[in-house]
Amino acid sequence: DPVTAIDREERTVTTASGRTQHYTSLVLATGSRSASLGLEGEGLEGVMGFRDLKDTRQLIHTSQHQRRAVVIGGGFLGLEAAEGLRSRGMAVTVLHRGSHLLNRQLDETGGALLKQALTERGLAIRTQTSPVALLGRNLVRAVQLDDETLISTDLVVIAAGITPNTELAREAGLDCERAICVNPQLQTSDPYIYALGECCQLENQTFGLVEPGYQQADVLAQVLCHSDSEAAFEPSTIPTRLKISGIPIFSCGQTEAGPDTESVVWQDYDTNRYCRLLIRDQRLTGAVLFGETSDGPWYSERIQQADDISPYRAHLAFGKHYCEAA
Ligand SMILES: Cc1cc2nc3c(=O)[nH]c(=O)nc-3n(C[C@H](O)[C@H](O)[C@H](O)COP(=O)(O)OP(=O)(O)OC[C@H]3O[C@@H](n4cnc5c(N)ncnc54)[C@H](O)[C@@H]3O)c2cc1C
Repeated sequence: DPVTAIDREERTVTTASGRTQHYTSLVLATGSRSASLGLEGEGLEGVMGFRDLKDTRQLIHTSQHQRRAVVIGGGFLGLEAAEGLRSRGMAVTVLHRGSHLLNRQLDETGGALLKQALTERGLAIRTQTSPVALLGRNLVRAVQLDDETLISTDLVVIAAGITPNTELAREAGLDCERAICVNPQLQTSDPYIYALGECCQLENQTFGLVEPGYQQADVLAQVLCHSDSEAAFEPSTIPTRLKISGIPIFSCGQTEAGPDTESVVWQDYDTNRYCRLLIRDQRLTGAVLFGETSDGPWYSERIQQADDISPYRAHLAFGKHYCEAA
């Protein structure tokens, strides 16, 4: 029974079935939906997003009856969809606009390692490419790329970002940009209304993983329970821990070196393990781990606490135990 309107003067919400409910504080956690790319042919049968159980069932069903799939988007969601379809027997091509996979979480080397690992499993991956049209009469039959290549397909999964569900907030007159604008206490432009999760935006940042949502929920619980609470949500160094098709990946803070950062890089070509640590003024500012991520939380603590790493800098790439021994 979705909420269809907020009356900020009366402080009530109304649902589709016509129920009206009063609130003292209102929390919007409306999430998001798959972003549309605005491509010609997006409405064809066989073109879909990847968001909920219904989509998942549809993907499984399609993989049992069709042979070829194209996934648009090489972020974690696109790669999970691609690997799922591949493991169910489909020939899958992933199209990614960025120069490397998972470009929000990984640096270029990490992205290249992931591409190699997934290619070895049988995925076809094309980076730095964008679809310009989806072709077919009723059913999708091919994807046309910006270099005029045509890829024949029976299924297209669009996993190229999310659109926060802001309609309810916009209609109620709350400040929205890409998502519903909030301050560090998750308060919207109306002091009685809060927002968190994928529907909110703090400064310039929106969120697409559960971890920031959990941290926001923790802050908001304190804010709602104690009116004098100084709890505040700080998005900058939330670690991301992912398993892309069983390959562990961790990233926290900066992922690419800037002019005033140094990098410590450790790579084992045999076991396909990679670790890149970014340092500024003897403080850790970023960590990208691929293949082995058990030291991730320890690195993220060093980043958050801005510890001086000079006493154990030479051991930094070997992780917690070596650094503590040093
Ligand atoms: C396939 C998939 C896999 C993912 N895997 C991972 C992962 O491995 N790790 C990770 O960190 N993140 C993952 N994510 C992302 C994660 O699921 C989201 O970041 C998280 O669920 C966002 O939480 P949320 O509460 O903001 O929104 P949602 O979980 O989307 O919840 C929003 C809810 O609000 C409801 N709603 C919307 N509008 C209204 C309305 N008007 N009235 C009433 N209800 C309404 C919606 O129906 C929905 O149930 C994945 C996402 C997908 C789609």
